[in-house]
Amino acid sequence: MHHFTYINNELFCEDVSVADIADQVGTPFYLYSHATLKQHFRAFDGAFSDINHLTCFSMKSNSNLAVLRLVGSEGGGVDIVSAGELYRALQAGIDPKKIVYSGVGKRDEDIEYALKAGIFMFNAESAQEIVRLNHVGGKVGRKARIAIRVNPDVDPKTHPYISTGLKENKFGIDINDAPRQYMVAAGLENLDVAGVDCHIGSQLTQVGPFVDALKKVKILISGLRNAGIKINCLDIGGGLGITYKEEEPPHPVEYAQAIKEELSGSDLTLILEPGRVIVGNAGILVTRVIYTKTTGEKTFFVVDAAMNDLMRPSLYDSYHEIKPVKWLGRPRLKADIVGPICESGDFFAKSREVESFESGELMAIMSAGAYGFSMSSVYNSRPRACEVMVKDDHFYTIRARETYEDLIRGEVIPDFMEKA
Ligand SMILES: *Cc1c(COP(=O)(O)O)cnc(C)c1O
Repeated sequence: MHHFTYINNELFCEDVSVADIADQVGTPFYLYSHATLKQHFRAFDGAFSDINHLTCFSMKSNSNLAVLRLVGSEGGGVDIVSAGELYRALQAGIDPKKIVYSGVGKRDEDIEYALKAGIFMFNAESAQEIVRLNHVGGKVGRKARIAIRVNPDVDPKTHPYISTGLKENKFGIDINDAPRQYMVAAGLENLDVAGVDCHIGSQLTQVGPFVDALKKVKILISGLRNAGIKINCLDIGGGLGITYKEEEPPHPVEYAQAIKEELSGSDLTLILEPGRVIVGNAGILVTRVIYTKTTGEKTFFVVDAAMNDLMRPSLYDSYHEIKPVKWLGRPRLKADIVGPICESGDFFAKSREVESFESGELMAIMSAGAYGFSMSSVYNSRPRACEVMVKDDHFYTIRARETYEDLIRGEVIPDFMEKA
C-alpha cells in the first residue's frame, strides 16, 4: 500500500498534486509520503509486537533526517554502517541505545565515536575487528557489546550485487569458524559478547532463505550457550523485498510468522534491520522531460534526472515503473528513458513500453524511496536533487536542492597556481 494515486488523471501524493510541488520546487526531486512511511514501519514493527524485539531501520537505504525522525518517533532504532550515519542518527534524535553498527571496515576512530555515543551493539565482521573493538573499548574505558556477524552460506536468490550471505561474499565470519571466534571474543576483557548477527542479502522475495539461515544460526547459538557464552540477542538483518514490477514478496506478517515459528520458545531479543521494505515504495523521483528524440527505430525521452540521482538502474539493471504525472491516455510506445549524463549507463528504462511524453511534461519514477537519494552523487557536477515529504495536504522540503556553491565547497586552488 502506498499513497501515490491518480485523482482525475493527475498523480497525487496523499492530498497534494505532484505537479503543484514540481511547480514550486523545480525538478528533479524526491518525494516521500509520510503516511506511507508510517504505515510501512508500523506494519513491519507491529508484526513482531508479541515478542521481545527492536526494529533498527537500515538507514543506508534512506538517511534523511526527517525520515529518521519519523522512525524514532515510532519507537524504532537504526542500523548504521558508518560513523557519518551515526552522526546523522544522533542529529535526528535517535536513541543511542537503539543503534546497532554493522559494516566490514570500522576504523578505530569510528569505534571510539560509537562507544562514546553509547550505542547498543556492534556487529563485528572479522577476527581483526573483534580485536580492534576490544582494544578501543579498553582505551575509552567502556565495554563494547558485540554480536558476531556470521555468514551462513545461504543463497538469498537475489541480484548478485545485493547477496551478502554466501561464502564468496566479503561479509561476516564463516559460520563454521564462528564458534572459535566467539571463544576468542569471550576471553577479551573489554567486550560484552551478547549476540549473533546474520544478514544474507537484500530484495528477498521468499521466506525460505531467511528460515534456512535461521536454522543454521539456531544450531550455532545452542552450541555457544552450551560452551557457556551468554547469547541474548539475535539480529537477523534486513532484506525483505518489495514490489518494483511483478515481484510478490511475503508481507511482513508472513515473514514475521515464519521467523517467530522458528524461534518459538526462545528467550532471545530479536533485532531486525529492515530498509527497503520501509522506504522503497514510500518514495518516488519526479523528473521533467527535456527532449524527445527519435533515431531510426528508437525513441528516447531525455529527462532532467540522471544516474547521479538514482543509480539503481545503472548499477543493478533494476526496474522502476515509469508513470506520467498527468495521465492523458496517449498511445503507448517503446522508448528509452535516459538522463543527460555522458555515460551510456545513464538510463532509467530501456525499450520500455510507456505512454508517450512530450517535452516539458513530468514523469514519475516509482519505488525510488530506498537506495535512491542515499546513493546519489554529483557526477557531471549536477547538484543533488531536493527531497520533499508530504503529510496530508501539505508538503515540506526536507532537504534543499544543492547549489553551484555546494558543488565546489571545500575545494581549494593552491596559491602557486596562477590565474590564466
Ligand atoms: C543493507 C543492509 C540492511 C538492509 O537491507 P534491506 O534490503 O534494505 O532491508 C540491513 N542490514 C545490513 C547489515 C545491511 O547491510
